[in-house]
Order: sequence, then C-alpha cells, then structure tokens
Amino acid sequence: MVTRRALLKNLASLPLVGGLFSTGLLAGSPVQNPGVRRDYFKELGVRTFINAAGTYTFMTGSLMRPEVIEAYNYATNEYVLLDELQDKVGQRIAELLHCEAATITSGAASAITLGTAGVLAGMDQEKVEQIPDLTGMKSEVIFQKSHRIGYAHAIRNCGVKIVEVVTQKELEKAINEKTAMMWFFNGNNYVGEIQDEIFVEIAMKHGIPTFNDCAADVPPVENLWKYTGMGFDMVAFSGGKGLRGPQSAGLLLGKKKYIDAARLHAPPRGNTVGRGMKVNKEEVLGMLVTVESYLACDHKADWALWEKQIQIIHDAVADIQGVVPEIHVPKVANHVPSLNISLNPEKTEWTPDQVRQKLKEGHPSIETVGGAESIGITTWMMQPGQERIVASRLREILLS
Ligand SMILES: *Cc1c(COP(=O)(O)O)cnc(C)c1O
Repeated sequence: MVTRRALLKNLASLPLVGGLFSTGLLAGSPVQNPGVRRDYFKELGVRTFINAAGTYTFMTGSLMRPEVIEAYNYATNEYVLLDELQDKVGQRIAELLHCEAATITSGAASAITLGTAGVLAGMDQEKVEQIPDLTGMKSEVIFQKSHRIGYAHAIRNCGVKIVEVVTQKELEKAINEKTAMMWFFNGNNYVGEIQDEIFVEIAMKHGIPTFNDCAADVPPVENLWKYTGMGFDMVAFSGGKGLRGPQSAGLLLGKKKYIDAARLHAPPRGNTVGRGMKVNKEEVLGMLVTVESYLACDHKADWALWEKQIQIIHDAVADIQGVVPEIHVPKVANHVPSLNISLNPEKTEWTPDQVRQKLKEGHPSIETVGGAESIGITTWMMQPGQERIVASRLREILLS
C-alpha cells in the first residue's frame, strides 16, 4: 500500500513532466488540504452575489432546497435506466399534481419543444425522426399576438409556422386542418383578448391540443394543477424558478397521450429534435423531491417573510429625497411581493443604472433588475437576513 503522503513525497522529488498533472494531484488548482472546503468560485475569480433580482437564467436561477440537493447527490452514486426512472417519477408527480401524466424536461423551454414535437408526430416513429421536416404532417401552431415571447422559438424548433391572432373571431378563423396546437403564455393571460378558459373551450370545440407555458407561475402552488384541471392538454413549469429545483430541469404535465408522445423526442432517444435537451437521473430525481418539498412548504409563512423583507428595504429608502419606492405583486408570473424604486431626476442625481452598478460593485455584490426608469427588487431568492444588507447598502448609496 502506498499512502497518499508517501505518494506526494515521491512525486515531489520527481521532475515535473506532463504525466504528473494527469494524476490530479499536481493540477493547476491549489493543493487540497484535507478538511478544508475549496471555494471554487473564488479560485476561478467568479463573482457571487446576493440575488435581489429574482429567478433569472443568466443569474443561475434559484437555490435548490437542502432536501433537493440531497436527492441530487444520492442519484450520483447509482446507475439506473433513465426511462424507468422517468416513468416512475412521472407517475409519482402526476399523482401529486392531480394530472394524468408528467415528465421531467430540461426546462420549460424544452417542455415546449418536446410537447410540440409530440403533437406533431404522435406515436409515429418515422415522423419523430422526420421533424423538423413536416412534410405530410400538421404544420401550424396558433397563439395570440400579445403572447409572443422569445421562448416561442421553442415551438419553431419543430419547423412549424406560427399563426398569430388577436381576437376570438380571428382565432376561430385561423383554425384549419394544418393546425397542430394552440399555445398560450400564461403570464400574459390578462394582456391578450382571449383568456385561458375561453381559449381552452375554443380549442376543445375544434379538437386542437393546447399548451400553457406557466414557466414562472408558482406561487401560488395551486397553479401546479389549476391549468391541467382547466383543460389545457399540456402545461410547463420551470424547475429552477419558484419551485427551487434544479435549474436545468422543468415539468411537462398533462394528458398521458401527449406526454407519451413528447417522451419519444426526449433523451435517451437520439434521432430526435430533443436530443440536446438531456436531463439525467440527478435532475429527474431532484425534480420529484422538488415537487414534494414545494408542496410541503408553508406557503403562508413564505409570503409573510417576503412581505416583511420587502417592507424593510422599502422603509430604508422611503424618506430619501427623490426616491419613490413602491411595493407591488405581479398578477401572474413572478407573483411575489416586489419593490420598484423610481428616482426623480429633479430631486436626486442618481440614476437607476448607476445605483444598480454600485450595488453590483459593492461587497457583498448585489444584483437587482429594472430598466432606465427604476430598480426592481424581490427577496424570494435571497437567503433570509440578506434583505438587511440590501436595505442598508441601498440607503448608503442613495444618500451618498
Ligand atoms: C423562464 C421561462 C421560460 C424558459 O424556462 P426554462 O425552464 O429556463 O427553460 C419559458 N417561458 C416563460 C414564460 C418563462 O418565464
């Protein structure tokens, strides 16, 4: 037996050749001291920050709950068959969320692509391989003009043509034999002329499958079954937003027929539009525990905490000249207590961009959102207690 210490001692006396680096013991990273946790982000010089913004992909989403991390880590230690795990987890999640079927995708966007591909090809393996060439298949997806968001690209991945409508009349007129699906962006339910229930009703009347993109739409928790219950055939949620699951995961919920069809486009199957949208056992198991733990949360207590936190930040700046903080709750997506801080250019020299930059550059660094008009803040993605740091830092900057 060669002990680690003896090995290191021997290595130290050897000349430095390439082979040594491959042992991993002399790699470019600092030599590991047993018992000392590596600070990887620090080693890399990657900035970490207090997330006062919300759930943003470019800020790496949310922080997984400890029980999710535990399940994720557990999964790293065993091999399983990916499809068997997806089957079992899908069944379990469908039971928990009162829908026919469920599957884990690599995010809400992936759920949209897989769901669209599913309605196009059904259970026909030849058609599965043919996408995005839609020769001989239905080829149109309808949605409301006001529901067009960048993520709708996930539909176009499948080669379909998007048909945009505004009124109910236009919608009914647009439906034809080429219509594969009607897609809905839940966050804009109140922006479009046709709201959720009527949308579903029209689709059902014409026998067209519907998809509701609810990516950012928990809380409230009931949304996890509200829209499948309403009759949407497929509903997508992001794993790494309000659910606080793996950021590279999502939920596709809905009718078994469509979930089964969507699965044909998902890994491990290779000759598919969805091959690049891989989730492994860690995300799949992680999402089951994410859903379980989210359902078990004390949602009232969470809400009360967010309200208190946002009030603290509000109050810290409310008396400052030219600063107008306003607490609001977005009606659908990102439905949490939020703070909008406007700055009156006649009464303060600070602009929102400058304040955001100052917050970013401080220690600890703080990320917020908003445009040229205001600074946007939420507290739901913070670690409890960080709201006080944000409050005092904001006050300090605005008074300087
Ligand atoms: C975030 C978001 C998506 C993308 O979700 P991912 O889980 O990151 O793939 C799609 N649609 C809407 C409305 C979103 O907010």
